[in-house]
This record gives sequence, structure tokens and C-alpha cells, in this order.
Amino acid sequence: TAKESGRDQYCYYDAQLEEASQSKRLIEKELVNAISNSEFRLVYQPKIDMIKGTVNGLEALIRWRSTKLGDISPDVFIPIAEQNGQITSISDFVMEEACTKLAELQSHGFKHINMAVNLSARQFKDRELVDKLRSVIKRHRLKPSHLELELTETMIMEDKERARTTLRKLQEAGLKLAIDDFGTGYSSLSYLQYFRVDKLKVDRSFVMNIPDNSNDMELTAAIIALAHKLNLQVVAEGVETEAQSGFLNDNNCDEAQGYFFCKPIESDDLIDVLLKMEKQYPLENKISN
Ligand code: C2E
Ligand code: MG
Ligand code: MG
Ligand code: MG
Repeated sequence: TAKESGRDQYCYYDAQLEEASQSKRLIEKELVNAISNSEFRLVYQPKIDMIKGTVNGLEALIRWRSTKLGDISPDVFIPIAEQNGQITSISDFVMEEACTKLAELQSHGFKHINMAVNLSARQFKDRELVDKLRSVIKRHRLKPSHLELELTETMIMEDKERARTTLRKLQEAGLKLAIDDFGTGYSSLSYLQYFRVDKLKVDRSFVMNIPDNSNDMELTAAIIALAHKLNLQVVAEGVETEAQSGFLNDNNCDEAQGYFFCKPIESDDLIDVLLKMEKQYPLENKISN
């Protein structure tokens, strides 16, 4: 009967919830010692300049290999760490590690490559964020303009006035700002004029449907045009095919990032891969015109 199946359904969701909160507790427990056990590392995914075909920058992406739980995706553990505050020490680790790598790249002659770091919501709200960044940049003798912060729409929409002040301070300190996953938030476009940023990263969910979905193609082209009207650079995320790369290039997208060009690179391999890519790109001519 309807009543019984209703109850079954309730039990089914209940069991799922129970399972989810159990694995959440397990993850929280294992996160506690993850830093001291050196279970975190960063990998780096190149961003390709669509005109020159060279590597313009890197995005630092965290990886967690838990001794007990195996590999856990940042999409899973970042929101948990964000809720319980463990994100603070994780964020410090990420910033320190990314800046160390950037300094190493500089000393190996990669003077124009910049490093993008994903900010957590808590980090963005931290009143000491700007001071902390200034000090880590100074300690590693970096140029602030070589460091790019990726923020999401939801992070800045939460408290608009405070966000505007923070963004302005970060730019005054010389850092670059990018809106990550652009187009997935539900905010109005007018915020782009209220908040001054440098770049938009078109979300993978638009890019992945090129060339099969003409709506998403039109949206992507429109986002690029809009960004350029506002003097913003555009990066496309999750570019997996030549067709996508070609479409983005035809529509004047500035940079592209995705498996088609390069998967995230392990720290120890980074310099070798960058040296190889420097030679490869013009030859392979992966960027179609
Ligand atoms: P995101 O910043 O939007 O990063 C892009 C994600 O897409 C990364 O997943 C990347 O590995 C993946 N990706 C790149 N190219 C392709 C492609 O061609 N196809 C597909 N299918 N995927 C691609 P990842 O590394 O699992 O990170 C997931 C999310 O976790 C990130 O999304 C970001 O929001 C968050 N995250 C990662 N690292 C950090 C970090 O150090 N700090 C913070 N706060 N968040 C991080
Ligand atoms: Mg990102
Ligand atoms: Mg993104
Ligand atoms: Mg994304």
C-alpha cells in the first residue's frame, strides 16, 4: 500500500543519512591527524594561454591520502573541514606549500608562471587574511601579482559589503582575484561591477557540453563576451577535447585548463613536465585556430 511504501522510503532515506553521517564522523576523525601524518599534498594543473599555447599559470589542488581511508576527494573533505574548523590548518598548509613551490619555480627560471590557490570560505572571512598573505608572500620573496586567489560567488555574496572591502584590500596588496565555477551560483550578474576581480573561470558544467548542447555553447560564448566587456580575463575549466578547445579559442577565451592539455601534476614531476610542455606546445600545435 501507499502507506507502507511511504514508510519504506522513509527508512531508505534514513539509512542513507545514517551512513552519510557515519562516514562524515570517520572523515572528521581521520582529518585530525592528517597534517601531522603528512597525508596532504598539492598537485598542480597548468592553465594554458590560448594565444601563445604556453603555460601561463598553475592551480594548486589539494590531495588527501588517508592511511585509514585511502584517497578522499577534496569535494568530500573540504566541506566537512569547513564546517568543523579544521579547514584553517589545512588552508595554512596549502598556502605555505603553494608559495614554496612558486618560489622554487621562480628560481628555476619560470618567471612568468603564476600560482592560483583556492580560498576556503573561512579563510575569506578571516580578518587576518590580508596580513597573513602579505607575510607569506614576503617570507618567500614572491611578487604578489604572481599569486591568484580563486573565490566562489557564494563566498562573496554572503556578506557583500565586507567581501567588497576584503577584495579591495587583496587587490591593493597586489594579488590577483578570480571567480571560480562562474555561472553555477544564482547571483545576479550586476555583482561583477560591484566587486572588482581580474578573472572569471567558466565552470566545467558549461564546457563539458560543447559541442553537443547549443545552449551551453551560447552561454559560454556570452560569458566570454561579457567578461571582456568588463575588462576581465576568462579561463575555461575542464577542457577535455579538441573540439572544446577549438570552440573556446574561436570565441576568444583567454586561458584554458583541463585534461585535454594536462592533468594535475605531482609536485616532484612539475618542473620536468613544464620544461617538456614548453617544447611540445608549439610543435604539437594543440591549439586549433
Ligand atoms: P575547482 O577549484 O573548481 O577545481 C577544478 C576541479 O576539476 C579539480 O578537481 C580538477 O582536478 C578537476 N579537473 C580539472 N580538469 C578537468 C577535466 O578536464 N575534466 C574533469 N572531469 N575534471 C577536471 P579536484 O582537484 O578534485 O578539486 C575539487 C574541488 O575541491 C576544487 O574545485 C576546489 O573547489 C576544491 N579544492 C581543491 N583543492 C583545494 C584547496 O587547496 N583548498 C580549497 N579550499 N579547496 C580546494
Ligand atoms: Mg579552483
Ligand atoms: Mg573551478
Ligand atoms: Mg569547478
